[in-house]
Amino acid sequence: MSANESLFQEALTHFPGGVSSPVRAFRAVGGTPKFFRRARGARFEDEEGRSFVDLCMSWGPLILGHAHPDVLAAAGEAMAEGLSFGAPSRRELALARRIKELVPLVEKMRFVSSGTEAVMSALRAARGFTRRERVLKFEGCYHGHSDGMLVKAGSGLATFGEPSSAGVPKGFADLTTVVSLDDPEALEAAFARQGGEIAAAIIEPIPANNGLLVQDPGFLRRLRELCSRHGALLIFDEVISGFRVAPGGAAELLGITPDLVTYGKIIGGGMPVGLYGGRKDVMAVVSPDGPVYQAGTLSGNPVAMAAGLATLERLNSELYRDLEQKGARWAAAFERLPGLTAPRVGSLLWPLFQAGVRRADRVDGGAISKFNRLHGLLLEQGIYLPPSGFEVAFLSIAHGEEELALFERAIANVAPALA
Ligand code: PMP
Repeated sequence: MSANESLFQEALTHFPGGVSSPVRAFRAVGGTPKFFRRARGARFEDEEGRSFVDLCMSWGPLILGHAHPDVLAAAGEAMAEGLSFGAPSRRELALARRIKELVPLVEKMRFVSSGTEAVMSALRAARGFTRRERVLKFEGCYHGHSDGMLVKAGSGLATFGEPSSAGVPKGFADLTTVVSLDDPEALEAAFARQGGEIAAAIIEPIPANNGLLVQDPGFLRRLRELCSRHGALLIFDEVISGFRVAPGGAAELLGITPDLVTYGKIIGGGMPVGLYGGRKDVMAVVSPDGPVYQAGTLSGNPVAMAAGLATLERLNSELYRDLEQKGARWAAAFERLPGLTAPRVGSLLWPLFQAGVRRADRVDGGAISKFNRLHGLLLEQGIYLPPSGFEVAFLSIAHGEEELALFERAIANVAPALA
């Protein structure tokens, strides 16, 4: 048995499916999850000493690449002064200042420890502020694993959601209205029917959890208008798009201002951090200023704040230009595979064996099966893609010429098997 296989066999005795998060399992693509021991730049090394070019990049936080020296130095310096205080520290202020500088719509914020927590808390604040209970979400958007968000519905007009995870009480699902992306009529109908009950509409403005379902900006502008007209708050979940597609995330790119926004991933530079924030009158409902309770032992953790700040300090227009160029070149390399298109926004791209789609229910099963084959073939060539055809690939500034050359060679090698 290989070293990797024996680690996985032990993992199966400890963890459901042998993993700490289901997206790490290789159930969709087949094979055994790789165990990694170290990473730097755009590459990581598995427990058997094989090096891979990483196109998953911890699912998004590592915009500067793995183990960036400045991030390690900042985290190390913070660590030497104590791992956690459970009391205020100056590092929270430094990160908050930088976030406000990059995203002025964030007038007030609260740090939490994950994207899931950020969304869960933003929804509670929205409900507390509006004194309404219903939340509108979009099919195919992922907002973490809190009860009310694990709901999807069939395509078509807004319907009451069905729980899509066992263990979600029906009552939670009943308070979530699900609308298809890219379906203006369904959106109008949902607001016409339930507009007065909706506390908040939440959306990934660049939906990146069911592939990359890039929306017509007009659809998002209409969503903004409908929320304002009906007294509902608009929440942009920018856990993936925040600081990745532009300094001010999708809100800046699209020129649309949500009432609240959620972040995660990049703002922690690889450490566990989330954040929700936005309008200060809305954030005034959050405890201890207001009646909406939300708290966290490790919130604003000094080491995480330091890693996040070191990351955000390096974001500038040159970096986004570089990521845009890299995105275009890596997408072009992917598109050398017959039948593949690579929908892309900057450094986020989706290898898809189908013409681009904008709705979750339009993704073709055959295209996903073909991705599953591609995944295994590229893994043999030393290229690590997220292990699911519904996940996007992430680039970083560390993806250089050498990695691109390795990737192009790998694509040329696997192309015949996919023709
Ligand atoms: N929202 C979005 C848009 C996400 O992509 C994710 C995770 N990928 C989350 C929320 C949940 O974040 P976390 O995994 O940190 O809880």
